[in-house]
Amino acid sequence: MKNFKHIYKEAENKVQGIAAAPGIVIGKVYLFTKEKLEVSDGVITDVEEAKQNLEEAIKQSKKELTKVFLIAREKMGETRAAIFEAQMMILDDPVLLEAIEKRIEQEKKLPEFIVYDEISKYQEIMKHSTESYIKERAHDVEDIKNRIIRNLQKKRWQSKIIRDSIVVSDMLTPADTMLLSRSNVKGFVTDHGGLTSHAAIISRSLNIPAVVGTHNITKQVIEGDTIIVDGFHGYVLINPSDDQIKFFTEKFEHLVQLQKGLEEFKDKPAVTIDGREIKLYANVDVSGEIDIVVSSGANGIGLYRTEQILEEQSEFPTEDEQVRIYSNLSARIYPNMLTIRTFDIGGDKFKLLDYSESNPFLGLRGIRLLLENLNLFKTQIKAILRASQNRNVQLMLPMISTVAEIRKSKEIIEECKNELRKEKHHFDKHIKIGIMIETPAAAVMTREFANEVDFLSVGTNDLIQYIMAVDRGNDLVSYLYQEFSPAVIRTLHHIVTEGNKTKKEIGFCGEMAADTLAIPLLVGLGYKSLSMSPATIPYAKRIIRYLNYEHTKKLAEECLTCHTETEITHHLEKFFKDHSITRTRQII
Ligand code: PEP
Ligand code: MG
Repeated sequence: MKNFKHIYKEAENKVQGIAAAPGIVIGKVYLFTKEKLEVSDGVITDVEEAKQNLEEAIKQSKKELTKVFLIAREKMGETRAAIFEAQMMILDDPVLLEAIEKRIEQEKKLPEFIVYDEISKYQEIMKHSTESYIKERAHDVEDIKNRIIRNLQKKRWQSKIIRDSIVVSDMLTPADTMLLSRSNVKGFVTDHGGLTSHAAIISRSLNIPAVVGTHNITKQVIEGDTIIVDGFHGYVLINPSDDQIKFFTEKFEHLVQLQKGLEEFKDKPAVTIDGREIKLYANVDVSGEIDIVVSSGANGIGLYRTEQILEEQSEFPTEDEQVRIYSNLSARIYPNMLTIRTFDIGGDKFKLLDYSESNPFLGLRGIRLLLENLNLFKTQIKAILRASQNRNVQLMLPMISTVAEIRKSKEIIEECKNELRKEKHHFDKHIKIGIMIETPAAAVMTREFANEVDFLSVGTNDLIQYIMAVDRGNDLVSYLYQEFSPAVIRTLHHIVTEGNKTKKEIGFCGEMAADTLAIPLLVGLGYKSLSMSPATIPYAKRIIRYLNYEHTKKLAEECLTCHTETEITHHLEKFFKDHSITRTRQII
């Protein structure tokens, strides 16, 4: 067999996109192209008839979306199916409908043109948003627009395709993704769309490998071509060679074996050969993931990113709504601990508040934004406190960079406790308060900050971007986003050494904890509690159970003397080889 590079990395038939949903599949292409809708601005003579047609088209669109919603709810659960409920709500929006009807009366043009024009106006505003989340939602609105127009033109809705194929399309709406999945689709590949697109989210929920944002794969394949989709790395191989097929089939079979093998680790603790226990917690983005958390054998939830509620609901939930969400989670995870992080909004994260900043990552984000919006902050703190009655909830503050922010937040938490007492609500009086260490300022000041709180959690996703001065979402400089930069590793060492002097608990919840290459190093540096996406917990457990703590300490010492990222990576790779530990994620 030819070498790995040739088969994979430098293959000429390779198209690169974004890894949107993990997994490997080999299959035949089904080109899913949608007829381009032509919209006429013809003049009408009967306004009433036109309005009647509009009403029927909207009714039909609602019927279709209800069907999609019901399928989605069955396959993915209530929370994720809410995407379609949100779309149905647009169809009920009286302001939009009135605007369309009024224009039909005034301009006397075909409803399809007015619908097109009116909804496109909204889309334009959304497409020019600096928020990737809002931009992605513009695609959802496109779906609604096309659906109404198609129904006005009384065209049929095609969603049945050849079974067991890989769907290749320029773009997929959430509804397409959902409906196509019924034909046992093996994978999805699209020209457009990003990680946060709903099509990507749905693929992940349905466990269908997907690569999005390939730019022009629809121009490079024809129906019936064989392709390999690697949803781990974001590659597609078109009409693969025998060598490539053999390589990926072996990978795929290995993966199946591995997953079977991982089952056995579920109920075992993550303990090194020489007896050091590492607690493994789950990072939870959407409450729907709780089933995976429970089945992954996690010790609890180390990070609940509450800002995801805002993404799902598109508005700030009331105190009672939040109490319901947090209490549900705490009950499901009981007696394990649930760490609720207050809204980390601003930066690249969802923004409902209208601040215009030229440099949002360095701007009003996380705790800074919360302290500027005390109502919002207090509502959330009170909800977290009310959900803490079972004493398995702790509260964590994001993006801390000064002691003043911690002290002010603690004052506000006390205020909230007093208000709750007056309102006769129960809560855990001794609820633990922690902070994220994700700014260089917090890293440098670890010991002093730790003295102010009950626990710390290191967030490398941000810490790396701030140490390396590299925007975590910017492709142009992504080569500098180095988790194994000596600057990062030495900072992680400083944090754990300084933090340990205070005897406070030091967690770690950046994605780095899920990188199996990083695990021995983190253990060797002294981290005893790692939080990661629930699906990666069994992988981490498997590795930890093969480690010897004394060896990892030596590895960490070696890495701390290195001057380059490459040297550190070599040390880590050599460690796995020397100790004959299989790096599961490298294999896949
Ligand atoms: C981090 O920054 O590492 C972190 C866990 O927080 P988030 O990814 O939500 O910013
Ligand atoms: Mg962060």
